[in-house]
Amino acid sequence: MAFDHRRIHIWNRSEPTDGPVVYWMQRDQRSEDNWALLYAQEQALLMKQPLLVVFCIVPGFLGATLRQYGFMIKGLEITCRKLARHNIPFNLLRGLPPDVIPRFLVENEAGMLVTDFNPLRMTTEWRRRLSEHIEVPFHEVDAHNIIPSRFISDKSEYAAFTLRKKVERLLPEFLCDFPPLVKQRKTDDFPEIHPPDWPKVLKSCEVDRKVAEVEWIVPGEVAAVAAMHDFIKNRLEQYHTDRNFPDKKGQSDLSPYLHFGHLSAQRLAFEVQRAEADLESKMAFLEELIVRRELADNFCLHNPNYDHFEGFQPWAKASLNKHRDDPREYTYSLEQFEQAQTHDPLWNAAQQEMVITGKMHGFMRMYWAKKILEWTPSTEEAMSIAIYLNDKYELEGRDPSGYAGVAWSIGGTHDRPWGDRNIFGMIRYMNYQGCKRKFNVENYIRSNSKS
Ligand SMILES: Cc1cc2nc3c(=O)[nH]c(=O)nc-3n(C[C@H](O)[C@H](O)[C@H](O)COP(=O)(O)OP(=O)(O)OC[C@H]3O[C@@H](n4cnc5c(N)ncnc54)[C@H](O)[C@@H]3O)c2cc1C
Repeated sequence: MAFDHRRIHIWNRSEPTDGPVVYWMQRDQRSEDNWALLYAQEQALLMKQPLLVVFCIVPGFLGATLRQYGFMIKGLEITCRKLARHNIPFNLLRGLPPDVIPRFLVENEAGMLVTDFNPLRMTTEWRRRLSEHIEVPFHEVDAHNIIPSRFISDKSEYAAFTLRKKVERLLPEFLCDFPPLVKQRKTDDFPEIHPPDWPKVLKSCEVDRKVAEVEWIVPGEVAAVAAMHDFIKNRLEQYHTDRNFPDKKGQSDLSPYLHFGHLSAQRLAFEVQRAEADLESKMAFLEELIVRRELADNFCLHNPNYDHFEGFQPWAKASLNKHRDDPREYTYSLEQFEQAQTHDPLWNAAQQEMVITGKMHGFMRMYWAKKILEWTPSTEEAMSIAIYLNDKYELEGRDPSGYAGVAWSIGGTHDRPWGDRNIFGMIRYMNYQGCKRKFNVENYIRSNSKS
């Protein structure tokens, strides 16, 4: 396979030495359809060296709870098993990657380090620190975006339409099928593969255990592929008409799999593109999956303030500042929001949906975040409350799409200025009456009320 070098970013240009190639799996937690793993394998074969996979369990990653750790660890168990079938050892480390990976590389006399791409501040800082502390080449491969994020644009795109033009031009080159992972040849000195004791791993994680795991979705790459086929077969046809109705099951529900990398977005787009289904539905789905999702990675990659007021567009900051002192009819504390104790049954139902299922309907997320802006004393506080709750309860929280979604709702990011109004300034407004006209609000409230 001739690897597409546009996917690669080089963090450390040292010369490779003899020794295993290590793939530090971070964001793309799967054995199949994973460009970073495929690249690491290609390098190992070229260098005639073994390939190892390593994953770091980081205590309390960006406020993740038992809900997200449980999903992730059960997914890793499947991936570890699938890698073992390819004779690829999987090593679990505990601690911050820049602290534990250099030691692992030295202990295993590694010749090269490969990782996947993640635009979030903390993980970028890990890579930077790592690159300064290791003496082997360190290559990052974008295995999350269909068109590699560092390649498609070197700036924060203004809106979906500016990125869409580039996507349309480049997609035919990038939206292809994947080669298979090759079974690794066992040599005499090949290490024995000992899988971790996964239930023990989960038990020992230092996380908030009050946010329970959810049962409606099965973790891991095998279930992810099955869920993808189920969606394409049974629900893609109506996606265009049903997706914006929170009282219907019109969305794919694949975001947790995409977030943890159990499912490759490229595999999903490839299968949707060739599926026999309504063309408008296919186009609408690919717009969300490719343009909107990859726009979020672009936003976080090029805007270090992706989760703060300072990261908004100048027009939005000026407009929100002008309305900073507008009186608020209602204000709530973080605790009141978290307990779903506002005066608005629709907002409370959305909050409950997220707390209980770990996945609020996409349409409701916009309403939910905008009301937090309306009912808090400042935009800064609204951002921090929305991000805190989103990242604590959503199964796929701590994702660029989450930071971009909150910034869109509260700060007009990737949106345009609308008519000037109280509190919101020129940020797009949403209200209860608008929701009532759009869908059966009572049904949604009934299904998500506290029992
Ligand atoms: C306030 C707010 C918070 C959000 N928080 C998150 C979050 O924490 N994690 C997260 O992954 N997404 C987040 N989103 C984006 C979006 O709401 C979800 O990705 C989507 O609802 C997931 O459900 P689904 O997979 O069933 O979506 P589908 O409608 O089936 O879409 C398929 C895929 O397209 C992508 N997608 C869909 N809508 C968007 C969007 N608006 N922006 C970017 N990508 C999109 C997702 O990868 C999604 O899985 C947020 C949006 C808002 C407005």
